[in-house]
Formats: sequence, C-alpha cells, structure tokens
Amino acid sequence: MNRPVSDITGVGPKMMEQLERMGIFTIQQVMEHYPFRYEDKAVRPIMEAQHDERITIRGTVHSEPELRFYGKNKARLTVRVLVDGLLVQAIFFNQPYLKRQISLGDTVVINGKLDKHRLVISGGTILKNRDENSEGLEPVYSLKGDMKITALRKLIRQTFVQFNEEIKEFLPPQLMATYRLMERKETLRQLHFPTSIDMLKQAKRRMIYEELLLFQLKMQFFRKKEREGDIGQKKVIQMEKIDAFITTLPFPLTNAQQRVLGEIMTDIQSEHRMNRLLQGDVGSGKTIVAGIALLSVVQAGFQGALMVPTEILAEQHKESLVSLLEPLGVRVELLSGSAKVKERRVILEDLKEGKINILIGTHALIQDSVTFHKLGLVITDEQHRFGVEQRRILRKKGLRPDVLFMTATPIPRTLAISAFGDMDVSVIDEMPKGRKPVDTRWAKPNMLPRVIEFVKKHLAQGNQAYIICPLIEESEKLDVQNAIDVHAQLQVELAPFQVGLMHGRLAAAEKDEVMNDFASNVVQALVSTTVVEVGVNVPNATVMVIYDAERFGLSQLHQLRGRVGRGSTQSYCVLLADPKSDVGKERMKIMTDTTDGFELSERDLELRGPGDFFGSKQSGLPEFKVADIVEDYRVLEVARQDAVKLIESEAFWKNDQYKKLRDYLKKQALFNEEKLD
Ligand code: ADP
Ligand code: MG
Repeated sequence: MNRPVSDITGVGPKMMEQLERMGIFTIQQVMEHYPFRYEDKAVRPIMEAQHDERITIRGTVHSEPELRFYGKNKARLTVRVLVDGLLVQAIFFNQPYLKRQISLGDTVVINGKLDKHRLVISGGTILKNRDENSEGLEPVYSLKGDMKITALRKLIRQTFVQFNEEIKEFLPPQLMATYRLMERKETLRQLHFPTSIDMLKQAKRRMIYEELLLFQLKMQFFRKKEREGDIGQKKVIQMEKIDAFITTLPFPLTNAQQRVLGEIMTDIQSEHRMNRLLQGDVGSGKTIVAGIALLSVVQAGFQGALMVPTEILAEQHKESLVSLLEPLGVRVELLSGSAKVKERRVILEDLKEGKINILIGTHALIQDSVTFHKLGLVITDEQHRFGVEQRRILRKKGLRPDVLFMTATPIPRTLAISAFGDMDVSVIDEMPKGRKPVDTRWAKPNMLPRVIEFVKKHLAQGNQAYIICPLIEESEKLDVQNAIDVHAQLQVELAPFQVGLMHGRLAAAEKDEVMNDFASNVVQALVSTTVVEVGVNVPNATVMVIYDAERFGLSQLHQLRGRVGRGSTQSYCVLLADPKSDVGKERMKIMTDTTDGFELSERDLELRGPGDFFGSKQSGLPEFKVADIVEDYRVLEVARQDAVKLIESEAFWKNDQYKKLRDYLKKQALFNEEKLD
C-alpha cells in the first residue's frame, strides 16, 4: 500500500505530478482519497422533482445545441430536450465540448438543478458511460490543480482493480463483531463505488468508527505514556493545614469545588504528572480552587506558577492570591512585562533562590530566561492551549511540573475529548449559592436611546456599566460601532457620570490606570473592546451593553456577559443587534434564553461547527476524512471507551490480533517525538 502511485497502470509523469500536488504519493493515499459527497444520479420522473432540486432526467434532444461564448473564456450551451412529454431547456456552462457529443434525436441523460416554473435545467452536465447498476450514486472528489474528475475516477477504479487484495483488515475481530462492522476491503470499495445507499451507509459507519478509534487510541496512548514516563514529583500535601485553611474562607466551597479539588489533589500527590483541564462557567469559582492547589504545592515544598493571557488578569490574580495566601506566609509575585529592569532582576533572582513561592504572569513566565528553584505546578487560566512549544521549554529545563488548565469557555464534551483527549477533565458544574442569573435582553439599534436611559438609571443608583464594542477605530470596511466613537458620544450622553475608554492598543500602564479607575468607581461606565472579556472582576458593575452583538460568537458573548452578575445585585445585559439571517436571530434568542454556559456552547456548536467554535487559529482539532466530531459525537464517546479499554488491557500489548494497531501507534509516537524536539 505504500508503493508509489507510478505502480498504477496508466500513471505517467504528468499524472504523478498532478497527484503530488494533491498530496497523494502512495497507493494507500489514492484509496483513502474519499469522495466528499455523492451525486444521486438515478433518473427520476421530472414531475416528482421539487422546484430548485437537483435531478437527473432522461430525454431526447429536440433542437440543435446552441453554443455561445461570452465574457472571458465563458461558454453557454443551450439545447431543448423532450422529457416525459415536456419540453425542457437544458443549459450547460463552460463545457463547450458537449456540443460535439449530442445531435438531434439522441437520447441523453442530464443532471442539474431544475427550475420547475420555467422548465429549465442548469448547473449540471450530460452523463455518459454511466454505470447503470450503481443506482446512480456518483462519487464527487475534491480536486487541485489541473486534475479532472473523470481522470481521477478512472485512476481510482484502476487502483482498485490492481490493488484490491492488498487492503487488509486491522480492527480486532471482537470489535468487528460487537459493532457488526463492514470489512475494510469492502468499506473502501463502497466508499468509492457504492452499490446502494444502504451499503454506503454501512461503509461510512465503519470508517467513522475506524477513524475515531485510531484517534482515541493515539490520545489514550499518549496519555498513558505521559503518565508513566513522567514519574518524579511525588508531593506530600499537608491535608490538615489545607482543610484548616478552607474553613477560614468567607464562604463554604460548593460541592463541585470540593469534588474538583479532590481530583486535583489526588493528581498532585500521585507520582504521575498531572495534565488536567478544569472547566467551570464564568463565576463558578475557579480562582479559589487554583489558590488552594497552589497553596498545597507550596506547603509541600515546591513553587507554583500561574499563567494568564493578559496583564490585567495577572494583576487581578495577584491581588486575590496575595490577600488569600500572604497571611499564611506565602510570597506571591508578579512578573510583569511593564516592570522596571531592576525590579525584574530582583524577582528573577529571588525566584531562582526559592524565595518566591508563587509567580504570576503572562506566557513569558516559562521563557528561557526564567529559572525556578523547584517548580511543582503550572496553572494556566483562560488559555486554551499550553502548546507543544511550552512543554518543550519546560522539558528542556528538566522540569516536569503538574499542569492544570482552567477555562471558562465551556467546551462541549465532544470537543473537549477530541481537542484535549489526552487530558483528564474536571468540571465545576455548580454556581455558588445566591447568584442571580444575568437578565439578558436583545434590543434593535433603533432602541439605543432607551438603552442609554436604562444605563443612566442604573448609574444613578450607584452601579456601574460596561459598554462593549467590536472594534477600536472606525473602519471603512465594516459598518460597526467603534469604541472611540462610542466613547466620545457617551461622554456627552451619560454626563455627569464619568466614562472611561479601554482597548488593546493602550499601553500597559494606561490600561492599568483605566481599570483601576473603574474598579474604584472613579469612572462609572467603561467603553471597551473585548479586552475585558476574560477574568476581569468588578462586582459593582451590573449593566453591560454590547454593540453589534451579532458580530460576536456566542461563547464570546457569554464570556463578556460574565463580567456582570458578580455581586448580589440583579444584573442586566443588553445585546444591541440587528441580525439579518435566521441563524443570527436564533443566536440572539439563545443568549436571552439561557445563562448556562454549557447549554449555550452546545447550541453554538450546532449552529457554527467546530472550526468556528475555537476560532481557526487555535483550534487544534483533529481532521477526519469521513467522521465529523460534532455529528458523530456518540461514536467518538464509544471509541474513547474502547480505546481506554484496549490500551489498559494486557492482551493489547501482547496478542497478534492487535499487532497492526500497535504498529500504527508506534508510527504515531515516532512522529510525535520528532515534533517535540
Ligand atoms: P471564575 O470561575 O470565573 O474564575 P472566580 O473565581 O472569579 O470565578 O469567582 C467569582 C466570585 O465568586 C469571586 O468573587 C469569588 O470570591 C466568589 N466565590 C468563589 N467560590 C465561592 C463559593 N463557594 N461561594 C460563594 N462565593 C464564591
Ligand atoms: Mg477566573
């Protein structure tokens, strides 16, 4: 299967080049270049079709085909065809060669989209040499460069003629039987040349399972390797001290907080390296959990690091941790990008000597120049990925600390176990008592004056407000409200109240000043871009207005909304939006319907798909050829359980029937190690 494509009869240098351009070099890659859809080209009576539906019809050519060229290299071929006693006009674009293939009186099979009112069929082609037993399911492949679909189909057919027998089953018989899976050989054939819709379904079912199982095997394998390979730091937690500390908190921990703390503590105490994702909705109380985890590590004689995405958040965490832990003699410091050179040097020096117990900062925390005395725990807050690169740096320094990722973006379980499949997951699924859900309303832009009045009323009551805008400055391309303009306008309209302006292009010191003014109520309303999205905590802010809300993702809106509702007063969020599409309206409705981040993220995922969910740049999601992690989430779950069982079983590592799967994992591991160093 790994032989080059040149072994396929009829593949010359030109074809080889075209295939290479599509990333296809081997027989196997040809066979696994699956169609991305199938055209149902079975001939149907024309009266059965809906308006605008794609259909395949058979008829007789009733007029001389007329060919017109227009524009730049564009061609349109028109011909009348008699179908079931009706005269249909068929239009073919940019296929001038079709003219030679038909003449008056011929029987032709045509597919395309049918305009039923005008009886025009267009957007298709003339089907020739159709395989009549295939029920008309024609595979459609993605193409690149000069590759033609007909040439590719022919090539794939030839590949199967020659190499069909090389396709070997590698799923163990027991799994094949349990799920009644189609054999691999038959599966590949059916995916390319389906004999019926039902067979195609069976083939897809098998391939989805195969892809997801392999993926999960890989994840579980890495997880096992990480756990076993990273033996080293076994920490002894002084449990009584921790328990005593918890009783001094101004509130009892929620059941969920206690549960996840238990999970984290178990990891810290064990000799395995913790690799855990902590999910908890905005305001669910993750910071205190992080604080207790850090404390336990410090008391066990190690240092802790807390990594956050922004300086603002770093400041805030420092304040909370200092007030929480300093009374216990724990030294917490901030490694700030804006610190003076001398201050920075002192901090780095003290860190190296172990005089600092907990260091907070942005990703600069684990850079090469930062040396810890004895780093035992890294917690990252609101950062989706702690990349391969960061792990590599730690490894290079000989550090294998426990790692905890905290996120308030509720990641739907399907995505969590795929993107973070090699991690353990803890969830805080309970809010502290007494929280009032944020009352969320959707307002059309023409209601702005009333919204402003509403804001003013609340400011008059001594509360504060956030006003969120998508962009900083006016843009010619996008007709959206921008922070600078809105700020200028609101300074007038909200007078005598003070209005601050916050955005990402301010210098760090300016940001601090604005945030401090807002936190201390010197400024009552804060106009801001999404920089306040994560973590910022000003409990006296009870109103949020979001301009152009339709431009934000639901998860992002939810994050933003989480900035209010942090005190005991009822809070409000107004979404100013004028969505044109049904999806856009649906999204606004979801926001006003629910404040449950998990429900929201599941619905967002359904609307937008996984790529959009994380934003393409940081998705880190695996790509599958046939499976779809959103649609096939049930299979993903089953595959995960099967993978865990396999990896943990002795038989898997010994028996012959698993050899192919083991080989596959070995290959993956090699690849992975290479990437790591
Ligand atoms: P997030 O999970 O969004 O980071 P925080 O940790 O900032 O949430 O907590 C939000 C607020 O809830 C903080 O003011 C915190 O002191 C408070 N809090 C945390 N846990 C509890 C609890 N068990 N009971 C009451 N209030 C709590
Ligand atoms: Mg937080």
